[in-house]
This record gives sequence, C-alpha cells and structure tokens, in this order.
Amino acid sequence: MAAIKHRRTALERVEKFISDTYFTDCNLRGRLFGDRCPLASLSYFQTPRRIPYEEAVVQEFGPAQVGQSFGPTWETCWFKVELSIPSAWAGREVHFVWESDGEGMVWRDAQPVQGLTKEGEKTSYILTRSLKESEPHSLTLYVELACNGLFGAGKGSMIAPPDPDRRVTLSKAELVVFNRDVYELLVDLEILLDMAQLLGEENQRSFQALYTANQMVNVCDVMDPSTFPATRDLAAAIFSQRNGESQHTVHAMGHCHIDSAWLWPYEETIRKCARSWVTVVQLMEHNPELTFACSQAQQFEWVRRSYPGLYARIQDFVAKGQFIPVGGTWVEMDGNLPSGESMVRQFLQGQRFFQEQFGRICSEFWLPDTFGYSAQLPQLMHGCGIQRFLTQKLSWNLVNSFPHHTFFWEGIDGSQVLTHFPPGDSYGMHGRVEEVLKTVKNNKDKGRVNHSAFLFGFGDGGGGPTQKMLDRMKRMSDTDGLPRVQISTPDQLFSVLEKESSQLCTWVGELFLELHNGTYTTQAQIKKGNRECEQILHDVEVLSTLAVAQDKEFQYPASQLQQLWRLLLLNQFHDVLPGSCIQLVVEDALQYYTGEQGAWLAGPSRVGASPAWWGCRGSNPGTQSTLVLNTLSWERTEVISRPGPNGKETLGMSDLGVALVSEFLTEGETANREMLCLFLPWGRALLTVPFSIANGCANQFALFDDVPLYWDAWDVMDYHLETRKPVTTMLKPLEVTLAGGLRGSVRFSLKVGKSSTLTQEIILDAMCPYLRFQTQVEWKEAHKFLKVEFPVNVRSTSATYEIQFGHLQRPTHWNTSWDWARFEVWAHKWLDLSEHGFGVALLNNCKYGASVHRNILSLSLLRAPKSPDSTADIGLHQFTYAVMPHQGSFQEAGVIQQAYSLNFPLHVVPASCAPCPAWSAFSVSSPAIVLETVKQAEDRPEAVVVRLYEAHGSTVTAWLQTSLPVKKAICDLLERPVGWGLSLEKQGLRLSFTPFRVLSVLLVLSC
Ligand SMILES: [Zn+2]
Repeated sequence: MAAIKHRRTALERVEKFISDTYFTDCNLRGRLFGDRCPLASLSYFQTPRRIPYEEAVVQEFGPAQVGQSFGPTWETCWFKVELSIPSAWAGREVHFVWESDGEGMVWRDAQPVQGLTKEGEKTSYILTRSLKESEPHSLTLYVELACNGLFGAGKGSMIAPPDPDRRVTLSKAELVVFNRDVYELLVDLEILLDMAQLLGEENQRSFQALYTANQMVNVCDVMDPSTFPATRDLAAAIFSQRNGESQHTVHAMGHCHIDSAWLWPYEETIRKCARSWVTVVQLMEHNPELTFACSQAQQFEWVRRSYPGLYARIQDFVAKGQFIPVGGTWVEMDGNLPSGESMVRQFLQGQRFFQEQFGRICSEFWLPDTFGYSAQLPQLMHGCGIQRFLTQKLSWNLVNSFPHHTFFWEGIDGSQVLTHFPPGDSYGMHGRVEEVLKTVKNNKDKGRVNHSAFLFGFGDGGGGPTQKMLDRMKRMSDTDGLPRVQISTPDQLFSVLEKESSQLCTWVGELFLELHNGTYTTQAQIKKGNRECEQILHDVEVLSTLAVAQDKEFQYPASQLQQLWRLLLLNQFHDVLPGSCIQLVVEDALQYYTGEQGAWLAGPSRVGASPAWWGCRGSNPGTQSTLVLNTLSWERTEVISRPGPNGKETLGMSDLGVALVSEFLTEGETANREMLCLFLPWGRALLTVPFSIANGCANQFALFDDVPLYWDAWDVMDYHLETRKPVTTMLKPLEVTLAGGLRGSVRFSLKVGKSSTLTQEIILDAMCPYLRFQTQVEWKEAHKFLKVEFPVNVRSTSATYEIQFGHLQRPTHWNTSWDWARFEVWAHKWLDLSEHGFGVALLNNCKYGASVHRNILSLSLLRAPKSPDSTADIGLHQFTYAVMPHQGSFQEAGVIQQAYSLNFPLHVVPASCAPCPAWSAFSVSSPAIVLETVKQAEDRPEAVVVRLYEAHGSTVTAWLQTSLPVKKAICDLLERPVGWGLSLEKQGLRLSFTPFRVLSVLLVLSC
C-alpha cells in the first residue's frame, strides 16, 4: 500500500530499528545475541614480563572474576578459561565473548588463534558456526591480556605520556549464541541507511535506499526469524542494481598499520603483530577473497622468531597471494632523516628478507604514515626493483592541499615512480559508505584515472580488518550510486593505473609534509645516535673490507654487521628517529645505539677491523708510530691529536683514501693563512678575513616559545617565529683556551632560558676552512626551541640543503603559501647560502632541523616537548656545528667534502709497526663524485661493493682507481648483477654519471 513517507521520520525509524542504544528491547539489534552462559571457570596469573605460552601455562593460576581490574600498565595477565557449551545450543553459532580495554590474544591448543581488542571491534572468538553433537563441548582456552590499550596508556589523552598505574578491566567473559541472520540484516540496513543519508535529498538513489530500508522494517518481525529471508531479499534487490561502465573502481585491500614502536615499546609491537595477523589469517580462512597488504620485514622477522606456527600459516597465505608483503624496506622508516646509505640498507635488508622468505621482492614502496619523503627516494626505489609508491600522509598538510592523488613523482636525478595516495586520505578505512564516497569525491585526478586504493582495517596500534568491514564492502561491490568496490591487490591497482597513466601529471622534487617539522629536532640523542652509528658502520665496513684485502685470515664480520644494521634501521622507524615516541622507546633506542658502538669500537669483542686492529698490524714490535686512517675517498690535511711524549697535539698529514701515515709536521710549521678569526668579547665569533660574512651577530643563539596545537613532539608551528628571544646572558666570559699555531680556540658559557646553560668552544684549525663550534648544553626547558643563527652578507632567493646522496634548493623567501609553509625544513650534514662567487655553509655533526630565511641561516638545536615523553631532551647534549665561508660555489669550495670530514673524523691510533708508506685503496678522479660506501657484497665474500654518487649536480665521467686486485662488474642497489661489465683500464674503472646518479659497482676480487 502506498503511504506518505516523511524523509526524516523514515530515516530515524530505520536508525532506531538498528540502534544499540534505543529500543533494544524490541528492535533488531537487541536480537543479535541469543542465550548466554557463564564460563565454567576463570583463573589468572600476572607477570611484568612478556613471556612465551609454554612458560605461561605452567604457572600457578589464581581465581579471577568478570568486572575485576588488572595492572599496572605494561604488565601481562594470562587467563585460563574453562568453558562448557550447553548441549541445548545444538545447531547454533556459539561465540566466546571477551570484552576488555586491554589487548587480548586467544590461545588454543598452544597456538595463538585470535586477537581480542575492544578498540579494534574484536570481542568475539567463534567457537563453532553450527554446534554439532560430535564437537567437544568443553574446552580450555588461554587469554593473554596486555595491560595496555591499542594506543598504549596515555594519561588523559592519546599522546600524553603513559599512565604507569593504569588498570584494564575485564568487563565481559561469557558464551553466547550469535544470530548470524540478524547480523546480516543489520549490515544490510546500515548500508541502506548510509546510502539514504549520504547520497542526499537531491539523489533519487537515496530515496530508493530509504524506502527499501523502510519496507524492510515493515516486513521484518524481529521475534520471527522466518520473516528474515523475505526482508533480506528486499535488500539484495537494490544491492544488485548495477552501475554503468564509467563508474569509479575502489580497490579495497586489507591493511593494518602497526607502528614498530610509538606509544608502546618495541617488545609490545611483537605481540601486536601476532594479535593482528593471526586475526587476519583467521579471517582469510573464512573469506578466501580477502587480501591483506603488509609491510615491514622487521615485523615478519619478529613473528617468524616468536610465533613459528602462525608464521607458517602466514607463509601459506603469502603463497596463495592473499597475504601480500609490500614496501620492500626493513621498517617503514622516516622519509627525511636517514642517510642515503641507510635508505639503501632499508631496501637491501627488506628486499633480501622478502626474497629469502617468500621467493620474491616487493614491487611497491609502502610508506603511508611518514612525515615527508626525500627527493632521492625515486632513484633508490628504482635501484631496489621498485617503480610504484603508495602513501597518503601529505593529506595532513596544514597549509597547502597537495594537487594530486595519482601522479608521477620525479626525484632529483630524474627518476620517476608512479605514486598513489588513496584519495580517502586514510590507511585505516572501515568499509563504510561514507568512506567510499569520499574516495571518489576527493580524488584530485578525476578524469585522468578511474581507480583508487582503499586500505581497510584498524591501524597504528594494530587491529586490522574485521568481518564486518568485509561484509559491508560485499554489499557495495557493484551497486548503482556507489563506486564499485572490489577486493584487490597493490599489483592489480598499480597495473591498471599504469595502463591509465598517459594523462598523469608529474611532481618534481621532495614531497614535503607541511606538518610535524619539529621531528627534525625532537629527541636529539636519538638523532645523534643515528648519525654516529651511520658513521661507525660506514667506517667498520670500509676498514673491514680493506682488512680482508690485506689479510687473507681476516674474517669479514658479515653477520654481526647485518645485526647492527638491522638495529640501526629499526631505530629509523617513523616514530623513533623523528622522536615522537614514549620514554620507554627512547630508552630502548639509545640502548641499541650504545650496543652498536660498544660492540665494535672498544673491548675485546670488537666487530670488524677497528682502528685498533689496524694499529696492531705489522711486524716490527717495539717501534712506535702513529697510524692515521681516513675512511673517505679524498686527501685530507687536518690537525689531529696525537698523544706524544709531552702530550702535545700534532698536525697530521693524511693523504689518501685509506692510509697508513707516519709523518707528522711539528707545531708551528703550518699556520692558517687563509683565515683570521676574531672573537668578540661577549662570546660571538666573527670571521672577518678574507670575507665579511656577518652583520655583527653570527653564532647568535635564540630561544623561541614552542607550544604547538596538539602534536607536541611532532609540531613546531609558524607562530613560534614571533616569540624569538636572543640569548645574551653571559655566565662565563670568553677565554682563550688555545692561542694559535695549529689550533686556536676560545670558550665561553651562556645562560639559556630559565635554568639551562650552554658552554661552547670555538675552534679554528690550521688548514681547515671552517670554524668549529663544539657545544655542550645542560638543557632543562619546557616547551622552548633553541636555535643558532648566522646572518650573512649573501643575497640569494634560494638556499641549498644536503639530502640523501645529493642536495636540493628551497626558497629563502615567503612569497607563496608553498614557500612559507617551509619555515622549518630538514638537511643532513650541511646547508649553504651562496651568491655568485661567494657563499657561507653551515655544517653539523648530528642536527637535521634548519632554515634559511632571507640572509639568516639557522640551525635548530634543541626542543622540549612534553608529550608523549615528558622527559624529552632534558639533560646534557653535546654537538658540533661549523661555519664555512667560501669563495666560488659550494661545489668548487669543497663544502660537501668538508661536511663529510666533520662527520667522519680521521682515526688516529698508536701503531706497533714501523713507519710504512701510505697506502690508498680507492681514489676517484673527480671532486663531483663521492665514494660513499665500501663493503663486502652480501653472500659473496670474494666481492666488494662500492657505492658512488654524483654530488655536484653535474654530468661527469670519472675514474675509480683501486689498489685492490679486482675483476669487475656493475650492479644495482640490491647487488644484483645487471647490464654490462666494465673494463678495468690503466686509469681504473671509467664511470659515467648524470646529476645525482647513485652507482653501485660490484668488484670481484681476482685473487
Ligand atoms: Zn605510523
């Protein structure tokens, strides 16, 4: 019978029919569960450690009750659950329901079987889909409950420091009958209601959905399941009305972003992976169409080690093409701060792991949640077998809306990768109508491509997809008015995008995130550890490789190096290296760094050919000389400290790539005639000869208020610039500590803020083109930002910043919103402001935050955020930066080499061998080429990999000379031999470079 239907009352009628708040005594939702039955028994024991199942189940379990609370934070409770299913439930679907605000894992027969996390909408473990006589009605389960939530245990807000005394409550633990037919009707009605509401009054499809839903309520008698099939038929009829050919296709893929550490420590992440992935595998067993894209080799490795049974199931689903390894990297690393070589190792360790474990490398780079993307990444991806990239983080831009969702991204060398941002601007979709509509509506490349990605599943803290998400999307597979939603794979998506790519636009240069710019500075110790360990691993690899060439007995420490690299790569995770993690994570990260340094540099258990190993070489005990090891590929003349008879410093002359040197100039022979350093009485240094670089206040410290809008450790906002206060309170006046000759230095101390102190030694060495600022800060601030500024007499509209294997320019003005949104940027070892013929570079040994506005170069030194780590950066800091005025361009002046020298100091060790001639292993004929890496090839002890890059931004041919006995070859970044062989000529290997090209050469030793 036709009846008048008021849109609002019809909508609300359907809402109330499926409401979990109103009318549950008589509505459909109230019928979702049938009979209930308490557990036969529940007991538990508690431990501060994360222990394996075998250890847990043999403990003594005491009584536990529903309603009881457990804690404190980070403890674990193991529950023994005895249950007995009433035989009256024959033929019914029976669930074990477990509701708690802690993260749970169900164990059955000594295997993990499902994660139970209320926040991740997983509170049921299905015991049987239809209870049979023959099934065991009584069984024992264990539930491992972590006393933390999906997002840790923040006190008051998610990113607040964890509450150490938080307790989790077990609010429900029972058996229930689950009415599957009611559930299916509920999902039908939810989708129809969403269509009715979201398609809007102007859309006739909206009314079709609404009237269908209304009719379903008419037909459905909630107390009489025999009415359900007819009700469902009404829904099926509208869902099966198809789209036209032109409709957009949404490629849905299961996903579960798990931060490798963030608001919880690394150790908890291992369990998060297991909880999330076992649930995925469980879902796959009942939904053979489900796909799941999963990144981070490290997480696979954790699960492989700790959950071998689960890992075997995962391997099966990888083989079936459902569980899909993506990304190719060891972890989803920060996209800005890791060095070029670290980036290569992320891929090398990741891709080799995926190849070894799953028989193939990944073909998509996957970094949905990282705070900006280096312009060198496209080339590194190409070199590692990847030409496709997925992220979405630029949707977080505060100022400018990124103009594309599907485009070619071109790096500084010209390499291009096909890049896709899921247009729904999320990697944690729930399969809702609203989200698929947003995916279509928001797509910035309408008319260019008609396919897009849709990553569904709870994320960040793990969780992953649910059955309900899948069931929603099944109904939207091809329903007129909604985009087509097909369960897909990254390969299927990118393959169709590649086919449609002719109209795509190209974005050149970095993908800069206009947010989270404080992460270049926060947790300075983590950043320092990263830079130091990158240097240490570089040096160990160089020295160990050359040791192998020198000494057949020497064992290259391949497995130790792999282990150390993996720890360093892990710490580059996108909430660890950026410093956006809790204190527990900071402690772990620093521990990993210290372990690395301790492991090789000192002690009997040193890894590799340490400088001390080289010093012990030789056959003439008794004689004393000094060994200078240079791990860079150019000649260096530097003042070094040599413990002499009178403890005096001596000027070392180190010539070659890697050299044993025993000749020293004595003090006074060489003086720095290039520069004169004047020290002003209040502690600022001013270089005056031969260049005037400053307007009278170089090396000016400035303190800013630093209170962002929400993301404390992450964000420094534009308005902080309005709060600048110069640091001028002198604690100790300037004193001359070394009067000159080989080295001149002065020292002074300043008061910073309320109670912090800064002591600085300013050092100028003979022959050294830069002035070094060795700095120590006792930092006790809250919400302050310390920078050091160098105003210079240079006029240029752009400044240059070092990035991975190259550099790029950014504007020094704030003309457009794209310019001023970059008020705080990142750089690696140097930045430079030059005009024709002259410029000034600012070098550093562990800092990343920087900016150049107008003529002022600023280096960001320390922040003091309070969330998620209230102790962040409080304490003692030591760092060095340097200012280098130069004639000509920064390329001609050797800024790049000097920044390397500052970061890779010469190793000076006493040697027991007689003075021997200097020995050089490698040299490169062009100053434009940096030989970055010398290492043993993976799995090939007879081969050496050298990695070089063009650093000036020029096309150049260079000769690589080596004294090692080699045959030759060439390879890509994964060390796979590709292309052609290179002939070894008299001058060495002839190598051709285009701007910023990275080249890896595999040298097979001929001996
Ligand atoms: Zn993340």
